Amino acid sequence: MLSLTAEYLKMGSNKSTSGPKIKCLKCGDIIQSMSVHDFKWCKCHTIAVDGGGEYTRTLGYPTDMEFVDDKQEEKK
Ligand SMILES: [Zn+2]
Repeated sequence: MLSLTAEYLKMGSNKSTSGPKIKCLKCGDIIQSMSVHDFKWCKCHTIAVDGGGEYTRTLGYPTDMEFVDDKQEEKK
């Protein structure tokens, strides 16, 4: 049976609606919760993210996930 851990990260005054990008280290999928009610699983259902930018909740083992640095991706 898979046991899941939940982690809550207070985003403070960050009012953006989209949450951080999280990469699954098992399937390589990158998931992002775009709003408070947007719950996303990765392709292999190892990790999930919820809560958008208001609060970020991740499900799954911390060792199976990696936060993706948005600043590196948003270079235009
Ligand atoms: Zn996965």
